[in-house]
Amino acid sequence: MPYPASNVASVEHVDVIIVGAGLSGIGGACHLKTECPKKSFVILEAREAMGGTWDLFRYPGVRSDSDMYTLGYRFRPWRDARAIADGPAILKYIRETAADYGVDNAIRYHHRVRRASWSSHDARWTVEAEIGPEKTVVQLTCNFLYLCTGYYDYESGYTPEWPGIARFRGTIVHPQKWPEDLDYAGKRIVVIGSGATAITLVPAMAQRAAHVTMVQRSPSYVVTRPAEDKIANLLRRVLPVRTAYMLTRWKNVLSATFFYNLARTRPELFKWMVARGVRHQLGDKYDSKHFTPPYNPWDQRLCLVPDADLFRAIREGRVSVVTDHIEAFTEDGLLLKSGQRLDADIIVTATGLVLKLMSGMQLLVDGAPVDLPKTLVYKGMMFSDVPNLALAVGYTNASWTLKCDLTAEYFCRLLNHMDHHGYAVCTPRVNDQDFSVEPVIDFNSGYVLRALDTLPRQGSKTPWRLHQNYMKDLSMMRYGRLEDGAVEFSHKKAQNT
Ligand SMILES: Cc1cc2nc3c(=O)[nH]c(=O)nc-3n(C[C@H](O)[C@H](O)[C@H](O)COP(=O)(O)OP(=O)(O)OC[C@H]3O[C@@H](n4cnc5c(N)ncnc54)[C@H](O)[C@@H]3O)c2cc1C
Repeated sequence: MPYPASNVASVEHVDVIIVGAGLSGIGGACHLKTECPKKSFVILEAREAMGGTWDLFRYPGVRSDSDMYTLGYRFRPWRDARAIADGPAILKYIRETAADYGVDNAIRYHHRVRRASWSSHDARWTVEAEIGPEKTVVQLTCNFLYLCTGYYDYESGYTPEWPGIARFRGTIVHPQKWPEDLDYAGKRIVVIGSGATAITLVPAMAQRAAHVTMVQRSPSYVVTRPAEDKIANLLRRVLPVRTAYMLTRWKNVLSATFFYNLARTRPELFKWMVARGVRHQLGDKYDSKHFTPPYNPWDQRLCLVPDADLFRAIREGRVSVVTDHIEAFTEDGLLLKSGQRLDADIIVTATGLVLKLMSGMQLLVDGAPVDLPKTLVYKGMMFSDVPNLALAVGYTNASWTLKCDLTAEYFCRLLNHMDHHGYAVCTPRVNDQDFSVEPVIDFNSGYVLRALDTLPRQGSKTPWRLHQNYMKDLSMMRYGRLEDGAVEFSHKKAQNT
């Protein structure tokens, strides 16, 4: 139901509305400002600050798990000596970029977008956002909607329903809602989980805790890498900063693509290489049970340990790993299926995110709700039968920004192309049935499987295929044809007749 007109404070029109002021939204705005300088735009942001993920997550040690030369924007060199950066450094980078490109003034904070409705008659979107605690509704209209809303639910993370959880007398914390004043010095900590967050938190907390135990149902593939990239730092010393950045970016894209392909085509060799690395780090503390996942490499995201910090903490006895199932919470900690008990003062549930594309925003096209699972993704950034809308979603097997930069570039190319030809509307249409339909993500991680029914799908061939490959996307998105037969372009007048 639309909001009652009496609750609607104002209506304003801009060329583009960007939803979300995280890494992608700020990047998208910078592209827009430089590549489509005449377009008016605003960024609607639900929270009180920009930065998205890098402002929300405050747990100890929060950092990137891919290198900043590819997680950084193509147009703005990452100048820090560390390739694997902490959350505050990434947030600073986003804020400085927004200020330098003058897009920070375009952000409207405390604007939570709830619904966007497309009218073919007017060839525009009406966007409804709630502002402030009173949830006053503002309406804005735009010709194009660019959704940079991330991929997970900001309200809360995922916590399984374990028996007896209310009995536990200590403190339970989810990394997505880290209490600012949590004092864990000298405490016994249990971290539940084996993903990137657990792998980050465990060595960081072990610096001050009495002991940290990581409890995992099943292990992840864990690789170590230096936090600083010596080649990148050398290149920056001898070359102009932009040239050095581009070379390092390409070096990292190519090596990540090589190792990803190796993992997918020679999984046994890759498993052996990863296991050898962990064995080398842990020596006589190595137990294959804790580092041998039951799935193939890249069926789930690989975990990165910078400067072997996790392994060092295990070697020094500050961290132990337990692979078991949780039977129940007890008053003092956890009871495991094996019968083992783990006493804890604090239990951290690093059990993941709730995947939620478009943050649950409702989309309507000419009054009919868009049923996302019935749509196909076009070039990984638009949906079939949804006009003038793009979504920034990054790679699952490489840095997020590599794809979001390309998406923003393509979005700007599209706008300029439409202006040049006087088009008002562009809509991806499935006019070729000669392909099969598949899930949009081929991961088997819990958070993906839990949400698969809510996601759009992909086709088995271009442009409906999600390549998860920067080189393929680069040629398609930077140089490929815009009028590729799968997008219907029309003039506004033609729409109305
Ligand atoms: C802890 C953590 C570490 C990560 N590390 C890496 C990494 O090393 N490498 C990598 O490639 N990826 C990583 N990721 C994935 C990461 O989310 C992306 O890299 C990237 O930061 C996402 O940026 P984004 O702007 O697309 O989304 P987000 O950072 O999620 O920002 C989305 C923004 O949109 C706003 N928003 C959402 N819905 C609405 C709405 N309805 N109305 C108004 N505003 C809205 C949110 O408030 C938020 O500010 C990590 C994720 C997490 C959680």
